[in-house]
Amino acid sequence: MTAFAKIPATIVTGFLGAGKTTMIRHLLENANGRRIALVINEFGDIGVDGDILKSCGVEACGEDDIIELANGCICCTVADDFLPAIETLLKRADRLDHIIIETSGLALPKPLLKAFDWPEVRARLTVDGVIAVVDAAAVADGRFAEDAQALAARRADPSLDHDNPLEEVYEDQILCADIVVLNKTDLLRPSDAARVAVEVRKAARGATKVIAAQEGRVDIEIALGLKAGAEDDVAARPSHHDAEEGHDHDDFASFVLDVPALADAGSFIEKLAAVARSHDVLRIKGFLDVAGKPMRLLAQGVGARFRSQFDRPWGAAETRRGRLVVIGRKGLDRGAIEAALR
Ligand SMILES: [Zn+2]
Repeated sequence: MTAFAKIPATIVTGFLGAGKTTMIRHLLENANGRRIALVINEFGDIGVDGDILKSCGVEACGEDDIIELANGCICCTVADDFLPAIETLLKRADRLDHIIIETSGLALPKPLLKAFDWPEVRARLTVDGVIAVVDAAAVADGRFAEDAQALAARRADPSLDHDNPLEEVYEDQILCADIVVLNKTDLLRPSDAARVAVEVRKAARGATKVIAAQEGRVDIEIALGLKAGAEDDVAARPSHHDAEEGHDHDDFASFVLDVPALADAGSFIEKLAAVARSHDVLRIKGFLDVAGKPMRLLAQGVGARFRSQFDRPWGAAETRRGRLVVIGRKGLDRGAIEAALR
């Protein structure tokens, strides 16, 4: 790479729980010698995704190559958080082949993309591509769809707001993408997977590639090296917020739940699933302390769909403690959720 070559950056967007971190981990594991740095942004006060990737032990990406921007949305804090992170990474540009930026599940990709048009960024970086990861099972369940009546009203009057704020975020992410990764297709019957693929294809721009994947397994030769130069193409990527000065994320809320050591993790996770269902929780994720176990338990739920695995031993100097981030729509009833889990 010459001193003047721009470093390619890939923006990975996608709704809460779509599988962004899993896909990035897969890319790191198949880096084929590429030196990749990560910028990770999460909604919620504890950085779970960064922690997952730091403990993955993949050589292509050491701890120093990961910058976490927790507690905020990268789309709202571009100047405060994102630009300093990029400056830090650029100090070791000579040891860097690619940057992957994981946005939070609620972030709008377009404001981030626009930051690449700033002269100091543009001079050094180019947006190789925007990848939107989609939870095919959530789409099949109608998670992002408005009810038919609201949809008909909006078609008749385009100035009407969406009733479903999830749909707005989801559409903004897809419309910004060069590639849509239709993830978790293994959770669907083939006929539903085909229907979802058609639906997503319709929602995306014509030039966008849609590829199916399971467990985020996407070929790195397809995902990186698109050379989209997306910073030159921002206007062609529509957003629901194009007409606005700014935007907010008031439609969503989150809190951190402290969980004491568990005697029976399985039954606790069943309780989590039940609470997620009854309170329409969008996402729960974090680490749990299971009594008598040397390893911490990584627990993640998308809606009421949960999975868990022991991810690494607790450190010798580390305090064992269970903490989960809970994310939902505005009005999420923290008191009732905590009471139900007690
Ligand atoms: Zn924002």
